[in-house]
Amino acid sequence: GAPSCPHGPALLFVKTGQGKEEGRRFYACSACRDRKDCNFFQWEDEKVSETRLAAREEYNRNHQPAFTHRQNMERYKNFVLLPLSKRRFCQECQQLLLPAEWEKHLNHQLLCDISTAQLKSPSQFLHPLENKKTNAQYLFADRSCQFLLNLVIDLGFRRVLSVGTPRLHEMIQSKASQEEDFRVRSLLLDIDFRYSQFYTEDEFCHYNMFNHYFFGGEAACETCRKFLCEDNGERVIMVTDPPFGGLVEALACSFKKLMAMWKETGKEGQGNKEMPMFWIFPYFFESRILDFFPSFSMMDYQVDYDNHALYKHGKTGRRQSPVRIFTNLTPSMIVLPVEEGYRFCTLCQRYVSSGNQHCEICNSCTSKDGRRWKHCVLCKKCVKPSWFHCNNCSCCALPNHSCEKTDSGCFVCGKAGHKRTACPSLS
Ligand code: SAH
Ligand code: ZN
Ligand code: ZN
Ligand code: ZN
Ligand code: ZN
Repeated sequence: GAPSCPHGPALLFVKTGQGKEEGRRFYACSACRDRKDCNFFQWEDEKVSETRLAAREEYNRNHQPAFTHRQNMERYKNFVLLPLSKRRFCQECQQLLLPAEWEKHLNHQLLCDISTAQLKSPSQFLHPLENKKTNAQYLFADRSCQFLLNLVIDLGFRRVLSVGTPRLHEMIQSKASQEEDFRVRSLLLDIDFRYSQFYTEDEFCHYNMFNHYFFGGEAACETCRKFLCEDNGERVIMVTDPPFGGLVEALACSFKKLMAMWKETGKEGQGNKEMPMFWIFPYFFESRILDFFPSFSMMDYQVDYDNHALYKHGKTGRRQSPVRIFTNLTPSMIVLPVEEGYRFCTLCQRYVSSGNQHCEICNSCTSKDGRRWKHCVLCKKCVKPSWFHCNNCSCCALPNHSCEKTDSGCFVCGKAGHKRTACPSLS
């Protein structure tokens, strides 16, 4: 019964803080955390007049993309028939152009001579939507994308549901079109509608992962269901890399719905099995993810990005990436590259990073960030190497911390003094 904005059903939030509206519930856009991108707002108990409802519907209609997915496919068919010299892409409008439209884009920056190979790798020339609060499009470095794909292949999967992973999708698509014996297929679900210019309705669904909303309606939802249920639901894995500022609770709720879609279809009944999944997310969300998916574990592999200076691999980039793979597959099956320093811990039965030492007291390889952690007997756990035990706080902390008891910590890192949206771990 939630009202809708152009991004599908809104989510229900609650006001926190000291003001007199504390505790009051309201609906806001599920996809955009910045009011500038979508300013939908409605109190839960607000009465909305018929006129306003009608105006809202009209607004939502007007804020859909100029072309439908189907229209974009027609355009694509015509586009590939053009000789190279007539294949242009407008960088300002982020759109493939047909010759009749050139006139309207005279003063725009154009990419010319778009080859068929380029059309197979749109993420290479589409501008990454870096707007941190909404799209946060951080593209995998080749090293990480290749690693993920090899892992998926070595584990025997044949279908990948790529949720917010356009680069993995396109790597699969382009290999499938080049290598005859390449058997893996992918369906991309993403809110970035620009991809509908390059992929058919069987390869891409316009989807919002914060409210499990298919913009293409029942038909698109059915495409996804069919994809998951093929081959009795076997040999399919979901790989997702959501924006890090996103609400874990909303994501988990959508992912459970995708898992349920898969479960419905397995003819012989999947028993208690879960749809295999890789959820790529920073390590400091570990406990939040495990709250919703107790069967998941976090792998030590550091996922790298192209357009994110901070999230590069320790060996080549300036800093170590905090981004990890969470999975419900048996950890020992996830083989990490030995040439990058990962080794197998026989006690933990999983691959760990080179700096991660097995702690005899915790009986586990306890480092989360790749550095060697140290055990604190008072805290009865391993802590970051830079932390010391503080007798005031009776826990370990940075030496220069201020000893204040905190009531409400940040949702992401648990520390006081800032809210989730301003968490320094995210910036
Ligand atoms: N590393 C991935 C991209 C991850 S960036 C890769 O290289 O393939 C996050 C992705 O999620 C982007 O593609 C972005 O368009 C998409 N996204 C952001 N918000 C979304 C939402 N609400 N629903 C679905 N996809 C979303
Ligand atoms: Zn919205
Ligand atoms: Zn320990
Ligand atoms: Zn301690
Ligand atoms: Zn202290």
